[in-house]
Amino acid sequence: MILIISLSHGREFLFADGNHYLFNIKQYLIGNWGIIMLDFDVIIVGGGLAGCRAALEIARIDPNLQVAVVAKTHPIRSHSVAAQGGMAASLKNVDDADSWEAHAFDTVKGSDYLADQDAVAILTQEAADVVIDLEHMGVLFSRLDDGRIAQRAFGGHTHNRTCYAADKTGHAILHELVSNLRRYGVQIYDEWYVMRLIIEEGEAKGLVMYHIEDGQIKVIRAKAVMFATGGYGRVYNTTSNDFACTGDGLAMTAMAGLPLQDMEFVQFHPTGLYPVGVLISEAVRGEGAYLINSEGDRFMANYAPSRMELAPRDITSRAITTEIRAGRGINSDGTAGGPFVYLDLRHMGEEKIMSRVPFCWEEAHRLVGVDAVRQPMPVRPTIHYCMGGIPVNTDGQVRSGKDGLVTGFFAAGESACVSVHGANRLGSNSLLECVVYGRRTGAAIAEYVQNRKLPTIDEQNYIQQAQQTIQNLLEQKGTYRINEVRQAFQDCMTEYCGVFRTEDVLQSGFEKLQEIQKKYSQIYLDDTGKCWNTEIIEALELQSVMVVGQMIMASAVNRRESRGAHCREDYPQRDDANFLQHTMAYYSPSGIDIQYRPVTITMFEPKERKY
Ligand SMILES: Cc1cc2nc3c(=O)[nH]c(=O)nc-3n(C[C@H](O)[C@H](O)[C@H](O)COP(=O)(O)OP(=O)(O)OC[C@H]3O[C@@H](n4cnc5c(N)ncnc54)[C@H](O)[C@@H]3O)c2cc1C
Repeated sequence: MILIISLSHGREFLFADGNHYLFNIKQYLIGNWGIIMLDFDVIIVGGGLAGCRAALEIARIDPNLQVAVVAKTHPIRSHSVAAQGGMAASLKNVDDADSWEAHAFDTVKGSDYLADQDAVAILTQEAADVVIDLEHMGVLFSRLDDGRIAQRAFGGHTHNRTCYAADKTGHAILHELVSNLRRYGVQIYDEWYVMRLIIEEGEAKGLVMYHIEDGQIKVIRAKAVMFATGGYGRVYNTTSNDFACTGDGLAMTAMAGLPLQDMEFVQFHPTGLYPVGVLISEAVRGEGAYLINSEGDRFMANYAPSRMELAPRDITSRAITTEIRAGRGINSDGTAGGPFVYLDLRHMGEEKIMSRVPFCWEEAHRLVGVDAVRQPMPVRPTIHYCMGGIPVNTDGQVRSGKDGLVTGFFAAGESACVSVHGANRLGSNSLLECVVYGRRTGAAIAEYVQNRKLPTIDEQNYIQQAQQTIQNLLEQKGTYRINEVRQAFQDCMTEYCGVFRTEDVLQSGFEKLQEIQKKYSQIYLDDTGKCWNTEIIEALELQSVMVVGQMIMASAVNRRESRGAHCREDYPQRDDANFLQHTMAYYSPSGIDIQYRPVTITMFEPKERKY
């Protein structure tokens, strides 16, 4: 017997006699009666910090709204969980001289003046409040002796303002957010892969998703759709990012005919552990570690004498690459001329290493057998973060072009570009962005959906198209394995669109990418079943990687200047007269169209960037 015991607040629960547990009626209907279209007030794609914070805000503001979060991983396996070093906010717990204005200036200067300054002002003004809110939710931040939240130094920040939970900050925050979502009854669809964004006549109406467990396809219809799908590190062959960071949300947005902003700005984190590329947090340098070349020199003295190892990431990554190119890199046997430099923690002492950055010690020990208390770590730049993304205004609403907005479509977090990081993000500003703009976007959505009706969708049509896509992949009789094509694409991105770039190299890289893309129709899958067919997901992700990679390369060719992370050896100077603008790239299978949009400057006039 099945008894409906609660229909209050729109969250209908069933009580299954004999089983003694509660479960949601919608979940039951999907699983048992094959219902294919689901309705929600709000559907959020992405269970990382940005998506979870937005969902929580909506549920807090209006508990009657039906909110769902979809993620292709379990939410607590989103890449946010891997964030190590911390989250910036001018709490002034260790540095009285700090202020939101100082944080804003550091962020704008770090961005090489490409950040929109109205968005940066919001980010830095709301920072202290969101940290306190997280702590009230139960996030276990590391403490000072007097009990207040501890704050450490980070690259490009002129004050010690990064709040942290040892070197597991993302883990501490995400677990708390996900538990809170459960408390508020937000519906979570984990391990559902979103294949398509449904946009009709300039309005977002829902999405199509595929259940990894059993191959079901569903359409979700909603009054508002939000993307918080994270970054795209896997477009390159060496990255600090999780395997799931394939830029799906960006690709779906581009394939719906909407622009992506500032895609040429790809962050290389200076200290990826060699050879695996896994991140060694900037917190390690924040706590005092040195960068050393084959001659034993702290070479940052030649590149950023006032900030040394705590210069912004673009400058530090270029410095390391320059040292390696000049033959002052190190080989595994310790001789000169090799592919990495050393990150040396030894002078910090065992107690500090083990209490402040224990996870980084463990990573180096486990992955490359280095005991950082006694030996220096081998590091080189690794792909880490995308400054560009889906263009949004400061309420998280997606831009349809230079002026307009898309009805019912929102984005936040790493997949969005609001733009607070401009051409180069400062460490510990991304977790902050996810929480500040996740919260703001959630609030904007809660207001937007009031008194709106659900849109109409021809769901059968979308289901059939998605089924056809999957069927085609399963039946395709090609000659290439997915991995071969993906590897070729990633290698091409790494070789032709790296730390240093030139027109010729980028141009030929773009042509190569297009050649590799042609092989997509010739891939084959070994697994043709429906149950946990991870090859289907890999094939869908490969398509995302290919769209995003081409958008990065095309945007990079067209920006004929050097700014932040985009370093053109053929145009070494920043060119404010022509390029103090955001790139807006539009994708179509026949080519990519590039336009530009002005930068918002409200507080700080652009000037030369020196450290
Ligand atoms: C190793 C590492 C350390 C970092 N350390 C720091 C730090 O100390 N401080 C800092 O400020 N920043 C740090 N960053 C950056 C920061 O962690 C990320 O930018 C941020 O967490 C991104 O959060 P997000 O919510 O936007 O996306 P993510 O946390 O990446 O979540 C994306 C979500 O989208 C879902 N998704 C994606 N595509 C689909 C699809 N097709 N269908 C369904 N679901 C989908 C995923 O399953 C996931 O749930 C670090 C990054 C890395 C990689």
